[in-house]
Amino acid sequence: MFMLRTLNRSLAARLIAVSAVPSATVMIAGLLLLIHRARGLEQVRPGAGFELIYQGAILGTLAVLSCAALAIVIALRRLFQARINRLQSVMARAASGEFLVRAPIDGEDELADVSKSFNTMLARITDLQIEQLDRSLSMERLEKETALLSALGDANRTREQRLRELTLLFDLTQNIYSTLDLDELLRRICDLIGVRLGFQEFALLLTEDDGSLVVRASYGYPPGAKVNGVRLAPGEGIAGHAAQSGATQLVEDIATDTRYRSYPGEPARVGSFLAIPMRHREKSVGVLAFRRTALRAFGEDDIRLLSAVAQQASLAVVNARLHDATVLQSLTDPLTGVSNRRGMNQRLELELTRGQRFLHDVAVVMIDLDHFKLVNDSRGHAVGDEVLRQVARLLQRNVRKVDEVARYGGEEFLLVLPQLGRAGATDVAEKLRRIIESTPLALAGADPSMVTISAGVATYPEDAGDAQTLLERADAALYIAKHEGRNRVVAFVPPKESRAPKSSAS
Ligand code: GH3
Ligand code: MG
Ligand code: MG
Repeated sequence: MFMLRTLNRSLAARLIAVSAVPSATVMIAGLLLLIHRARGLEQVRPGAGFELIYQGAILGTLAVLSCAALAIVIALRRLFQARINRLQSVMARAASGEFLVRAPIDGEDELADVSKSFNTMLARITDLQIEQLDRSLSMERLEKETALLSALGDANRTREQRLRELTLLFDLTQNIYSTLDLDELLRRICDLIGVRLGFQEFALLLTEDDGSLVVRASYGYPPGAKVNGVRLAPGEGIAGHAAQSGATQLVEDIATDTRYRSYPGEPARVGSFLAIPMRHREKSVGVLAFRRTALRAFGEDDIRLLSAVAQQASLAVVNARLHDATVLQSLTDPLTGVSNRRGMNQRLELELTRGQRFLHDVAVVMIDLDHFKLVNDSRGHAVGDEVLRQVARLLQRNVRKVDEVARYGGEEFLLVLPQLGRAGATDVAEKLRRIIESTPLALAGADPSMVTISAGVATYPEDAGDAQTLLERADAALYIAKHEGRNRVVAFVPPKESRAPKSSAS
């Protein structure tokens, strides 16, 4: 009994046992054979039997030792290799971050003890992770965590379930709050819900200013279905209902619900549907809409988890939109609505990088209103402002979509014209000069005003290789235009050329 227990509990005892049995068998068989042969020899020649026993003992010891070694090797392979491999693979998974795996415990020996200790360590890590996640969540987003944990309702949940959900939500927050680009954000939300949560078909709809919903991202729909861009009027469909009422809509069988709208190109309407509203400060941000082909396929757990996801997603969407609006504001001139100097600088740098990469020209045209002080002095600052607005509109309307019009300073504008050289840009500037010269600017409560502009043109890479020098060169050309009598376009000519700057006066 004691022997058996020792064998069970000790790897060494088991190895000794498996090596001892065949070794002892070989040894006894060898000894019997040796004694038998020695007796025969002793009768023929006295002393020879003793000699044989002496030699046999040496060879026999070697044979027994080899046999024991062989038995140990076979036993190691047979008894332990598979278990060691299993343990090793679990350890490797844990090392790569899968702390929810557990090592198999087979037997009571030292290997089983190692597995048990390893599992205890993993459980401790699991506990630490929960603590850490709780702490990170509470530190990072205290307000959101409160809502989130209550949404998860952790009363009856196992530690593992809760950890999985928290990990997912933690990843979601980490992932989506690290981008402020709305399209990228929506793509990340979709990936997380589709890949991590395994929902097969769903769409993310955002609420527009007029209350309608537009599908901005989707996941898992068949290739023929046209889901992205689909618009639902306010209150239309199950999703529209969820957005308007602010309440989650669960439809166990869509065939029985007349509100259900299928997407163009989508196969037959079967299954169940779940629409979860995304809201922020009592206002609709959008809807997460899920479909499963089975009836009654969404459970309480799904709704709870997806509601927490929707809450995080709506905050991230609001943040991204706010950021977009702020960026737009910071790059726009409030008086005229065209880009301001900062926006222009960004655009110019971008175009110069493109020009360098794709080997094309970029032109800039610096424009200054002629004798603008007179307009202000004679007709007042408000009229002056209106003139600036109208000139900006005229410039904007008469350039290509790819061109950028910016208010560079008080009554100075700058055009960035991609893929235009000196001749092309001079033509554009000349066309604009004529248009402004000949367009009476209608002013509210005052007579129409006539203004003229002077313009200086410089091009990359002909005149300059960087933004700063390019602007200086355009300014130098503008200065010449003013000097030569105003209401004209002058293109910069590098000083190494002996002729004077070309001007095209009206
Ligand atoms: P020129 O450029 O032809 O040499 O003459 P100018 O009269 O335009 O000369 P200058 O560039 O010195 O004057 C610019 C004037 O533009 C001065 C300023 O009162 C006016 N101005 C600048 N910013 C604004 C603005 O935002 N609104 C209005 N109404 N006027 C502005
Ligand atoms: Mg001026
Ligand atoms: Mg000026």
